[in-house]
Amino acid sequence: MADHDFDLFVIGAGSGGVRAARVAALSGAKVGVAEEHRAGGTCVIRGCVPKKLMVYASEFAHHFEVAEGYGWTVGESAFDWAKFIAEKDKEIARLSGIYVRNLQNAGAELFHGKARLKDRHTVEIDGHGTVTAAKILIATGGRPWMPHELPGVEHAISSNEVFHLPELPKRMVIAGGGYIAVEFAGIFNGLGVETTLVHRGPNILRGFDDDVRSHVTEEIEKRGVTVLLGCQHAAIEKTATGFLSRLTNGHAVESDVVLFALGREPYVEGLGLEAAGVELDARGAVKVDEYSRTSVDNIWAVGDVTDRINLTPVAIREGHAFADTEFGSRPTSFDHEMVASAVFSQPPIGSVGLSEAEARHKHGGRVDIYLSRFRPMKYAFTGGEERCLIKLVVEQGSEKILGCHVVGPDAPEIIQMAAIALKMGVTKPQWDSTCAVHPTLAEELVTMREKHVPPALGQAA
Ligand code: NDP
Repeated sequence: MADHDFDLFVIGAGSGGVRAARVAALSGAKVGVAEEHRAGGTCVIRGCVPKKLMVYASEFAHHFEVAEGYGWTVGESAFDWAKFIAEKDKEIARLSGIYVRNLQNAGAELFHGKARLKDRHTVEIDGHGTVTAAKILIATGGRPWMPHELPGVEHAISSNEVFHLPELPKRMVIAGGGYIAVEFAGIFNGLGVETTLVHRGPNILRGFDDDVRSHVTEEIEKRGVTVLLGCQHAAIEKTATGFLSRLTNGHAVESDVVLFALGREPYVEGLGLEAAGVELDARGAVKVDEYSRTSVDNIWAVGDVTDRINLTPVAIREGHAFADTEFGSRPTSFDHEMVASAVFSQPPIGSVGLSEAEARHKHGGRVDIYLSRFRPMKYAFTGGEERCLIKLVVEQGSEKILGCHVVGPDAPEIIQMAAIALKMGVTKPQWDSTCAVHPTLAEELVTMREKHVPPALGQAA
């Protein structure tokens, strides 16, 4: 350290970078952090947090409808976009301030400016000159990927801009079938926007269980989202009244806003990684080992820039493990198995472990399925059509639960608990020995006794 300004220099004050910086600083290291935007990163500034606030805002219309079935007379209601955005921005500023204070309280020094590596120990920060560090952590996250070749792509916005629309559009086209597209389809549909989801594949949410994917498609359609599958944008044209999305199936959809949510890419541009000799993989992500070490022995990387599991809590755990290993004398690598995730679609999804297809592939077909679809009590009472889905994927023989998937109210809350059990290697008999909590949606998880025979297998049998 005597030779360097800092023991650790972190590039990027998002979830992973801030956790690593704080833990290292609290262990006694001299830590510097550079951030070109606001502290908090994608999650706090233009991701999970503002998105969840938008989900809350958009759910009220549905609550009002259900309320009538319970005897309420709901008066005229209106949504004030500008007011909501101002309140949301206040909350984001508050949270970003907490990130800054937490860094300062831990003793880390925050530099505002874009940082780049000049060599393996030297970092240049716009407006601050250069500093040197014994160890460097890259935690710059990711950014939306846009199809730059597409005619008219300049008319589309990404998830960065969607949080700052000057007004609520009347019509919206959302391209993509992943987390972001499906979540924003629910948000804008809930806010009364005529919403069309355009996805190139045969079903949305690739990677999730197939029953979950088709169930969610049906449910979001019931709520009013138009889902166009098997087609994608061929071009976007500006019209007198908005934008025309020309699709590859020959159809055209007019809207006021076109949102592209076609995936995210690691943010490595202009970082000078080549100057330091840091290797990237074919997708442009920083290559790391299980201790988040890059190809250069004094440089590490955590979070979305490494493109492992691109979720905030994962970045936090990777950053924490790095700091424990390098500054806390506790060698720790984060275990990427059995990481639960939630999609805040409407209805939402909670999922942990293997999908049925993954389990059949991995276990040579030796899996049992338990599946239940039913009307949640809250909506059954009002005659609503909404259905939830609960599915368990179980290994034959060991009876270990390999996957648990829930679609319905509170699914993200429910799945956190299920993830504990699956992470501990719970078997179906152990799971079933747990007494139900009644009346809840989650009780169905521990009361499913009959194996489900998927139609295709049923016919073959
Ligand atoms: P995803 O990778 O989840 O989905 C990208 C979607 O875009 C897929 O449906 C994909 O289709 C489609 N796509 C990709 N390339 C093209 C193309 N060239 N033309 C047409 N369609 C294309 O990305 P998101 O942007 O939705 O989210 C990024 C990541 O952020 C997620 O993977 C997740 O890790 C994280 N995230 C997590 C959230 C949460 O935890 N709730 C919320 C939001 C984001 P196909 O399936 O055919 O490849």
